[in-house]
Amino acid sequence: MNSLDAFAGDKLSALEAASLLRRLKPTRRLAGAWVERDGRRLLSFSCNDYLGLSHHPAVIAAAQAAAAEHGAGSGASRLITGDNPLFSQLEARLAELKGTQAACLFGSGYLANAGVIPTFAGPRDIVLVDELAHACIWAGAQLSGARILTFRHNDVDHLQALLTEHRASARHALVATDGVFSMDGDIAPLDALSQACKAHDAWLLSDDAHGVGVLAQGKGSAALFPGVDIPLQVGTLSKALGSYGGYVCGSQAVIDLLKTRARTVIYTTGLPPASAAAALAALDVIAADPALTALPLAKARAFTAAAGLPPAASPIVPVIIGEAQAALDASRALEAEGFLVVAIRPPTVPAGAARLRIAFSAEHPDAEIARLAALVRPYVQAP
Ligand SMILES: *Cc1c(COP(=O)(O)O)cnc(C)c1O
Repeated sequence: MNSLDAFAGDKLSALEAASLLRRLKPTRRLAGAWVERDGRRLLSFSCNDYLGLSHHPAVIAAAQAAAAEHGAGSGASRLITGDNPLFSQLEARLAELKGTQAACLFGSGYLANAGVIPTFAGPRDIVLVDELAHACIWAGAQLSGARILTFRHNDVDHLQALLTEHRASARHALVATDGVFSMDGDIAPLDALSQACKAHDAWLLSDDAHGVGVLAQGKGSAALFPGVDIPLQVGTLSKALGSYGGYVCGSQAVIDLLKTRARTVIYTTGLPPASAAAALAALDVIAADPALTALPLAKARAFTAAAGLPPAASPIVPVIIGEAQAALDASRALEAEGFLVVAIRPPTVPAGAARLRIAFSAEHPDAEIARLAALVRPYVQAP
């Protein structure tokens, strides 16, 4: 065997032995939070399509019309010839939603963080990251070449202490956190984080991937903290908005610099026009029906009450199991009952904190939520 295949084979065996090997499973997503796997229909609690908008007729029609009019792909980087007119429309809508001067689209939420952090931080700077922040925030921090400091999860005192110790020796400081934490469903203390940043002249980046469309009338987790200034607001079109793509909202100067310097804008093809059109249509659906955006959280709270868990803060509810194999077994048991609840294992979550991650959609039938809660109850650990 050649050394490349031997390396890959050894890695795969080690992952398999630790119950950490991941395999792709072809899954057909149907309307109404249903999926089809291996010929079986399952009700999915593992999609981020919180409002079911990926299957909304108006969203699909907008994507189809845009593909017919503009083609399937953008053909080049936005800075060359790929800046489809739909992009500036969508940027204006996102800036309006977030209450900022401007916005910049990216190919995905991952690419947004991989582009924005290196644009504003470099080797003479520090980037302070919540220990549970999303993998793409870490990727952006590493790409920046800045010194990375980790603060304990949602621990503003720890952040303050790190800033007090390290801020003076750095040129700039950037603080990065999820707004809604993707694997825990809890919410960052954005108000207190913002005050700490102001006191130390640090720039706050909040990634609202799981907030936009589902919290505070669809505006996202930042809207839970009215009046709080978050200069770098990252998010995605790929979750509640049912499409694909990412964005950063901020001041005109911030956005203008991103559009000329962010490597994940410059060196990559613009979004497919259909993705932008779908996101615009999704924003229209939300604007016309703000009550829709409250449903995922309401359903998550019905579930946590029935399952004996603390009240959900967002549509994401973790049920911590512990070991990876035990989480896989729990997921399999739920699958036998007709529910798709994927087990989340390290390194996505810390070792010993493998879990069921249950994500609620506006479309989940209440009776099925009650049945799932009864099945999950035995896994809920006494506090
Ligand atoms: C899902 C997620 C992303 C990635 O967004 P994509 O558009 O899927 O690339 C980024 N940040 C957080 C916090 C996420 O949960």
